Amino acid sequence: MTTQSHVILNIAFLSKRDKPFLHCYAFIGAVLPDLPMFVFFVVETFIRKTPQRELWDSRYFTEAWQTFFDLFNAIPLILILLGIGYYLLNSEKITVFAWSMLIHCFFDFMTHHDDGHHHFFPLSDFVFESPISYWDEDHYGRVVAPIERLVILVASIYLFPRLKTRLARWGLVLVNVLFLASYLLLLFRRRG
Ligand SMILES: [Zn+2]
Repeated sequence: MTTQSHVILNIAFLSKRDKPFLHCYAFIGAVLPDLPMFVFFVVETFIRKTPQRELWDSRYFTEAWQTFFDLFNAIPLILILLGIGYYLLNSEKITVFAWSMLIHCFFDFMTHHDDGHHHFFPLSDFVFESPISYWDEDHYGRVVAPIERLVILVASIYLFPRLKTRLARWGLVLVNVLFLASYLLLLFRRRG
């Protein structure tokens, strides 16, 4: 799933009406599993000047980068973090943060066909190939893409009154507008 969808969905799932400060930890937990991908993109594009095609066709799949991605998407490691946060430290913040990472991994598990992570790193190399993909047209991408946007819109309507700052509310509206617009653009391009 796209990063913005993870953010909105996870905050909606983990939001508690009387504890808006937890939104911030849900936010960080939702973004963190995708962060190494941005690092990869920036390092390869701007520092190593790798052509975009090579970037996604081969560089992405090198062992070093894959391990770097896996570290932030490893369910066993996240479970350890959750255990430490919940049982040892009794920290609601760390617990929400770890839950948010877990929910991110769950939705990625369900929506990646041949570009999934090693979810059980470092215990196993197993990669689940979901029958559906959030982007790949050979695997229902055309069906999943509008559903993802619709789900995010509904989650946003639920979340909006729970957000306390203007910045967060405007951010939520803006992400939805851009996300829906990107889909319309996609439709037009297919027609054209
Ligand atoms: Zn992800």
